[in-house]
Amino acid sequence: KEKNSHQPEFLQAAEEILFSLAPVLAQHPEYIEHNILERIVEPDRIISFRVAWQDDNNHVQVNRGYRVQFNNVIGPYKGGLRFHPTVNESIMKFLAFEQIFKNALTGQTIGGGKGGSDFNPKGKSDAEIMRFCQSFMSELYRHIGPDVDVPAGDIGVGAREIGYMWGQYKRLRGAYEAGVLTGKKPGYGGSLARKEATGYGLVYFVAEMLHEKGESFVDKTVVVSGSGNVAIYAIEKAQHYGAKVVACSDSSGYIYDADGIDLAAIKEIKEIKGDRIQSYLQYRPNAEYHEGCTNIWSVPCDIALPCATQNEINGDSARLLLANGTKFVAEGANMPSDLEAINIYLENDIYFGPGKAANAGGVAVSALEMAQNSGRTAWSFQKVDEKLQEIMKAIYAESKEAAETYGFAGNLVVGSNIAGFRKVADGMVAEGVY
Ligand code: NDP
Repeated sequence: KEKNSHQPEFLQAAEEILFSLAPVLAQHPEYIEHNILERIVEPDRIISFRVAWQDDNNHVQVNRGYRVQFNNVIGPYKGGLRFHPTVNESIMKFLAFEQIFKNALTGQTIGGGKGGSDFNPKGKSDAEIMRFCQSFMSELYRHIGPDVDVPAGDIGVGAREIGYMWGQYKRLRGAYEAGVLTGKKPGYGGSLARKEATGYGLVYFVAEMLHEKGESFVDKTVVVSGSGNVAIYAIEKAQHYGAKVVACSDSSGYIYDADGIDLAAIKEIKEIKGDRIQSYLQYRPNAEYHEGCTNIWSVPCDIALPCATQNEINGDSARLLLANGTKFVAEGANMPSDLEAINIYLENDIYFGPGKAANAGGVAVSALEMAQNSGRTAWSFQKVDEKLQEIMKAIYAESKEAAETYGFAGNLVVGSNIAGFRKVADGMVAEGVY
């Protein structure tokens, strides 16, 4: 804790996992003998580098780039790249650490990593984005590879950015190693259904949670925060299953539409125009816009799906959800609920799906993209979607079972942490001390 005292997000993620592991350690002395806990919180390596690039006014700008290669016991390092001004080493480490267990839960052969930059893509021209991505990859390329480390997208990094980075990687390597990055567009190595995978996967996971309680999405009121890649496809699948999604947000504020969100309008605003969520009122004048994104949790709902960013639900927001009768919370984003919020869910019978398990669909389909790339083939949307559904069902079942086995029935935080941890820890024991 002292060693990482200047990294609050990483400490938060590590505490959440380590506190879940007491019952496992009691039954597995080999984990203590091999000092797994102290080893598992130390990344294999952290790469940090300068990214200099020229803006449209010919000024040279400088950002910092990162890649945290945390653990490759199960497979090559795997995890997204985030471009956002808040990016720092603590955030990179928390995301990479969570990724280890999430990736283990998918059952695919992928280790844990994460990277990104404090570059702010907002307001940049397409040419500036391209120059930044090329400069970023000019350093990153020497640290990654299809069998070494396979980055993907995250906040601020979508198919366009992946395309620019992939082009630069190919140029520098002089070889067509498609499996080095996932999240490429279908047609040049990308997988169908990757764009939809995290949001759809989240809804498949929640469908299992609902089923457990004898319920379904039909006629449920749902609030989804964010309006990016994860949020849009969570809304799409929840609506498809018969839910009414009444609110979503961006970092400026949220919209409330009592008649149910018009998803075509959201897609046009966010995917095509790159505009603010407030402009939704031009499509649906009867909807409401409220400044301040975290107030979205005051909107009454049966199911809350935080899909924006870390720590967007604190204790106060969790108490609001509870007072409004919310029965299910599942995380599309990484660590959107702080530790106080999680305790409020667990103590008050709100059935909670933690991000590590609930949002694993994205990286699972990324692993399927790697499989398609190495087989030099492309699967149909239906085939990928079916595999995604199988994987999400398996993650739910495994997390639920681990919770029951270790005396925490119904607690998917403990269940998913233990199920993911055991796979990685067993690998570390088997591979010897290094
Ligand atoms: P996008 O960049 O596509 O969208 C992010 C959304 O969250 C936007 O609506 C953005 O609003 C909002 N947002 C970002 N930062 C903040 C902030 N500080 N406060 C409030 N709102 C914010 O990212 P994704 O949809 O890809 O990612 C969302 C979350 O899901 C992240 O936590 C990510 O790590 C996680 N995740 C993503 C996966 C994927 O496959 N993409 C896989 C698993 C997890 P604005 O436009 O105003 O910035």
